[in-house]
Amino acid sequence: MIRLEHVDKRFQQHHALKDVSLDFPENQTTVIIGPSGSGKSTLLRAINLLEHPETGHLKFDDLDVDFSKPLTNKVKFAVRRKSGMVFQNWNLFPHLTVLENITEGPRVVLHQSKAKSEQRAQELLKLVGLPDTGKRYPNQLSGGQQQRISICRALAMDPEYILLDEPTSALDPELETQVLRVLKDLAAQHQAMIVVTHNMDFARLVADRIVFFEDGEVLYDGAAKAFFAAPSGRIKQFLEAIT
Ligand code: ADP
Ligand code: MG
Repeated sequence: MIRLEHVDKRFQQHHALKDVSLDFPENQTTVIIGPSGSGKSTLLRAINLLEHPETGHLKFDDLDVDFSKPLTNKVKFAVRRKSGMVFQNWNLFPHLTVLENITEGPRVVLHQSKAKSEQRAQELLKLVGLPDTGKRYPNQLSGGQQQRISICRALAMDPEYILLDEPTSALDPELETQVLRVLKDLAAQHQAMIVVTHNMDFARLVADRIVFFEDGEVLYDGAAKAFFAAPSGRIKQFLEAIT
């Protein structure tokens, strides 16, 4: 499981993460919500070691990353091997086909054979409802299709967790629905996910846990049911403002 302990991160004057301690249990979906600029992306990026907080620890199964020390490539590799990031703008390689985009990581990093990696890629394409797109290039697909391919690319590495930072915020509502359906299926199969989203209907549907973040601090960390059942104070105000 993933655990953050006393994680602190500043950007010049801005205190983005203030002594954050959180657990992300295995096989569960944690949805992170909160206002813009509250530090949600910084938090997710710290879990994947795309940011380097000044202090605190990231514990990931038996790994213990001490942020007060330099991050070695070995540690970054070990952490990223266990957690796959899906970005808002999907970031597929434009010069590679869909199949090549999905098989690149497994072949280069996991040393899978071409045949094995392609077989797995075809299974994943079926899973996301895009079985016949392997030979196409990203620019021949819609944004929603590209985002589903980037989810396949993350899953192809068999990560313990997938991390998604506003995976549908660049999509039209119709395309958003396709992507959310895939994530809902993954949640039902207990694929561990940490998702930053502003879509509260989706959060209600898939979240086991909610983390509400504001101004670099955790204001709520607990069961999703309780979060939505009886919001009060700042959280009530936030939910009313965005729904
Ligand atoms: P959120 O994802 O919740 O919108 P972010 O984690 O992206 O928030 O950002 C939190 C705060 O940190 C914001 O005020 C943002 O401007 C600041 N910030 C994020 N990344 C950087 C950076 N690379 N340099 C300077 N400030 C940054
Ligand atoms: Mg963000």
